[in-house]
Amino acid sequence: MKVLLIQPPLVQLNSPYPAGAYLASFFRTMKCEVCFLDLSISLFYKIFSRPGLTRIFELTEERALEMADKAEREGDQGTAFNLRRYVSTSDSWCSWIDVITAILCGDAREKEHELLFSPKAPRGSRMENFLNGLGREPSVDDVRFLCSYALADLADYITAVFDSNFSLVRYAESLTVDESSFSEIEKRLDSPVMTEFYRELLEEVLDQEDYGTDFLVGITVPFAGTFMPALYTARYIKEKYGSKAYVVMGGGFVNTELREADDMALGKYINALSYDRGYGGFYDFIKKTEASGGGMAFDSTPIYKFRKFTKNGVIAPDWKGDEHITFIESSATRGTFPDFSDIDFSVYPRLCDDKNPMQRLWSDGSWIKAYLAHGCYWHKCAFCDTQLDYVCGYEMTDVERLFKSLYRTAWDHYIFGVHFVDEAMPPLALKSFALLNARAVNLGGNKPLYYWGNVRFEKSFTYDLAALLSYGGLGGVSAGLEVATGDGLKNINKGTDIDSIVSACAAFKENGILVHAYMIYGFWNDTAQNIINSMETLRQFFAAGLLDSAFWHKFILTKNSRVMEEWEKGLHPELKPIFPEGKSIFARNCLHFEGEKRFAKWGAALDNALTAWMHGKKLEMPVRKWFDFEVPSPTVPKNLIEKAIDRYEERKSAPVKDIEKREIFWLGSKPVACGKVNKKGLRKYSWIYMQEEFSSEFEESLAELLWKLRPETEENLYKKYLQQIKKSPEVEKLRGSGLVII
Ligand code: SF4
Repeated sequence: MKVLLIQPPLVQLNSPYPAGAYLASFFRTMKCEVCFLDLSISLFYKIFSRPGLTRIFELTEERALEMADKAEREGDQGTAFNLRRYVSTSDSWCSWIDVITAILCGDAREKEHELLFSPKAPRGSRMENFLNGLGREPSVDDVRFLCSYALADLADYITAVFDSNFSLVRYAESLTVDESSFSEIEKRLDSPVMTEFYRELLEEVLDQEDYGTDFLVGITVPFAGTFMPALYTARYIKEKYGSKAYVVMGGGFVNTELREADDMALGKYINALSYDRGYGGFYDFIKKTEASGGGMAFDSTPIYKFRKFTKNGVIAPDWKGDEHITFIESSATRGTFPDFSDIDFSVYPRLCDDKNPMQRLWSDGSWIKAYLAHGCYWHKCAFCDTQLDYVCGYEMTDVERLFKSLYRTAWDHYIFGVHFVDEAMPPLALKSFALLNARAVNLGGNKPLYYWGNVRFEKSFTYDLAALLSYGGLGGVSAGLEVATGDGLKNINKGTDIDSIVSACAAFKENGILVHAYMIYGFWNDTAQNIINSMETLRQFFAAGLLDSAFWHKFILTKNSRVMEEWEKGLHPELKPIFPEGKSIFARNCLHFEGEKRFAKWGAALDNALTAWMHGKKLEMPVRKWFDFEVPSPTVPKNLIEKAIDRYEERKSAPVKDIEKREIFWLGSKPVACGKVNKKGLRKYSWIYMQEEFSSEFEESLAELLWKLRPETEENLYKKYLQQIKKSPEVEKLRGSGLVII
């Protein structure tokens, strides 16, 4: 069977989304002929290229000038100037755009000098604000920032003058989120970007290939900002291929917002919705298609986790499946690894839009996206979608096979960064991955992968483990700090506490691992005191250097959360959800609740303070001063985090118990002899660890043994050396100066 997998626009620019790559891999194991198209990056280049921008300016010049006149009449000189400048300098934009994208892809270094200094180079207001805000002469090292702002400037122009649905990394998101009527979305499908650019792109890419008689099309919809283009894609395919194409939509948005969608209106565009991981459903679909003698006409047969839209009506999903299907689903989850062979990583622009090093990880780098485990091993937080498979369906991958696959992908594409998109990377899996990465030196590479992703801040991330993970390539972690108070963490059932969070953050930071925290405010039972305490604790985290960045989310109540599950059983009587009236195609996973607006006004001050802290500013300013309305004083001790750090230090240096059950690694540089052997047969050795020099006296045999205990050492040999080191009385002494015990 031929399978066409499509990532519709628009998603982040710097890396391909992983869903298509995972499914491509899965379908290939089923002997299907697969093609994975990332139409998001293709649409980007359709617009952000010389011909694309030329067309944009041709289509918008008149309207832009009219808008400028109107703005001037209304006294808005700034807008009038900007719009006229875009039109007047359109030639310059068109001749520079390919250079701008090339620079962001790591090419055209020489042109960076010209873009910065040439008076003929284009400028938009974001570019100018950036240059003016530098407070110094710009240098060529600022040019990647300048190029990122150039794209944002052009996107502003396109949104204002051509298509209000457009943004660089989302399309028509607010329309999809706000509009409960599917027919309204349908009416707006023929929007300017879709008809002027996307349709032509679909024609170009789909006309290149003969898909044969019957073929399967999988369209992934990770979030609302891709839904409208996904529908447009589906409609185009249906118009072009009719019943030859069996079109299935899946992905995060389908799993949540279309979970209960059974309106036949969708049947005009697609044949089925696929829920959750997709493997079991597609397997069931292919097997039943084959059993029916080909042709995809077995309309009345239910399929595992597929909702089918047929001529005879909607066929509900078989949610449970049989033993065989669930076995297939589970083994595919553990053993399917992303196949990016259809992807050219070199065309993904790496944006520089923030000086904060952790924030930059998200946009600056073409990451290979993968997961160490499906779902979350904790899956108990009150606010999380714990009833949905992407959280509660916890399943570890085969880490060794995953590593080998990513290692091969890295060398194939010459991309050595991995973004693990796990809900929470399990500590043990991370440790295995770090060791495999360190031992890759034996495969002819040299610790090739640098990786980052979500974790849970928990005590198991000790200093020693974090040191090993850092050695093995872990570069950044993000995790929920959520409500940074002891009671708050208990209330949301976070399963961790402030001490454990401090401990994990300190361990990561000491070992050069960037740390980001997710914060939440505005819970159904929140109080002003809770929020201010949480904010003060967060301030102390930043002041102590435990975090690089953070983000405040306003609490969103979801239908599939643990708190709603408990509410349905009669718990949380103070929570008053508001259910949407009338039937909608969307499941409305996000619910309103009574009193949710109480804390809306807190958002601006929380964000302003955080922005300053993330850039190392105003860390000592009392948190109350960020508000222009009355807020209570924090009641958390001023030294809450300082004390927690003291306890972390005590634990770090406490004697290790059960040494016989532990693993010991040497992470320092090679111990080198200084001077001669003394009368006791000992010699002074020195080495570097954490950029510092350490020295100690011991026997030559120990110096050799330490060097053999590096994580790079092949596993069987390592086990032998491990037994030897455990007999050495020096183990405890060397801990913290290059030796870690895990
Ligand atoms: S919030 Fe994170 S840690 Fe908590 S259940 Fe969800 S995925 Fe797991």
